[in-house]
Amino acid sequence: MRSTSRTEAFPAHTPAASQIFTTVLSHGPLTRSEIAARTRLSAAAVTKAVRPLIEAGYLLEDVDEDARQPSLGRPANPVLVDGGRALFIGVKMTGDELIAVLTDLCCRIRVARHVPLTTHDPKAVLASTAALVQELLTEADGFGVRVQGLGIAVSGDVDRAAGVVRYSPFLEWRDVPLAELAAMTTGLPVTVDNDVRALTVAEQWFGAGVGLSDFAVVTVGAGIGCGLVVHGQVVSGAHGVAGEIGHVAIDPAGPLCHCGNRGCVEAIAADSAIVGKVREVTGVQVADAAAALDLAHEGDPGAREVYARAGEAIGRGIATVANLLGPERVIISGEGLAAYDLFAEQIRDAFAAAAFGSAARCDVQTRPLPFEEWARGAAATAIQSFIRSDTY
Ligand SMILES: [Zn+2]
Repeated sequence: MRSTSRTEAFPAHTPAASQIFTTVLSHGPLTRSEIAARTRLSAAAVTKAVRPLIEAGYLLEDVDEDARQPSLGRPANPVLVDGGRALFIGVKMTGDELIAVLTDLCCRIRVARHVPLTTHDPKAVLASTAALVQELLTEADGFGVRVQGLGIAVSGDVDRAAGVVRYSPFLEWRDVPLAELAAMTTGLPVTVDNDVRALTVAEQWFGAGVGLSDFAVVTVGAGIGCGLVVHGQVVSGAHGVAGEIGHVAIDPAGPLCHCGNRGCVEAIAADSAIVGKVREVTGVQVADAAAALDLAHEGDPGAREVYARAGEAIGRGIATVANLLGPERVIISGEGLAAYDLFAEQIRDAFAAAAFGSAARCDVQTRPLPFEEWARGAAATAIQSFIRSDTY
């Protein structure tokens, strides 16, 4: 077992320093005055915070090599993050698979691995996770740089501060102290977060959310999830639950949801809901979401109607987000996008009908993000924990 003493402390001791580093990570290379403008901090504060980060090798000065001047430390030199300075591991857990990536400090994927899950028993899942992390730690040795943290992304109600999975429907877990258990088995500092929130961090830093202060990520597939960024912060809620548009009830007489309520978006538009409804409507015992999708693509009117209804539910869910928070953009992603041609029109129409006033101006985009991107999001949460001085 590896000891956590292998990891080192990040030399940023103030929230401002973490903010500066994150700004350079998303937007760099940037000059100190550009950093000051973006963070609204003083030039003196930026210079003071940047110095130890350069000394410790986390930031590099983009010196003009051709000029060959002793220009180091000149405020006009842009600074950028040295991605090779540290490595991180991100793991996304689904109901039937673990997806793991080894990333650098800029969250670029260096190695990706998948292993199937045959059981949901927490001990067995933890053993598979530890073995996968060990494989990536061995890969990391080849880079000659330490792995500084492990991020694990799980769907459901996850308390990041406590490191506990309160409830994960697909894994059928309740109150599993995952961060503590994974830290014991891997020897790494562990951050556990809701999977959609983790994906939202990656989108905020590197994806379609860069530069936006208010946006949402809506994921469709096994569940219907939503990550929210408000005033530049990923929202976790007072109790670790926020943005649960999957459980916005849109039809009180609708199908029963696993949460105990009726007519939730998830009870109409999640994969299992679609499969169940397609079986009921068409009488064809489709095996899974892929088979249901095939049937609809073959033109079966009953199956197509089920997707149309799912699209309507998703569109109304997105309109609820737009009406409450007025995001600039909503990014729709998730494995359910495979059916997008079957429900895009209904999503658009239902959104337009239910969004109030200027909220309808929100830019709704689709963005296919494979599970490696979700695992990358988990690595981003580990980077976030590493560079933050104030929390977790
Ligand atoms: Zn529900």
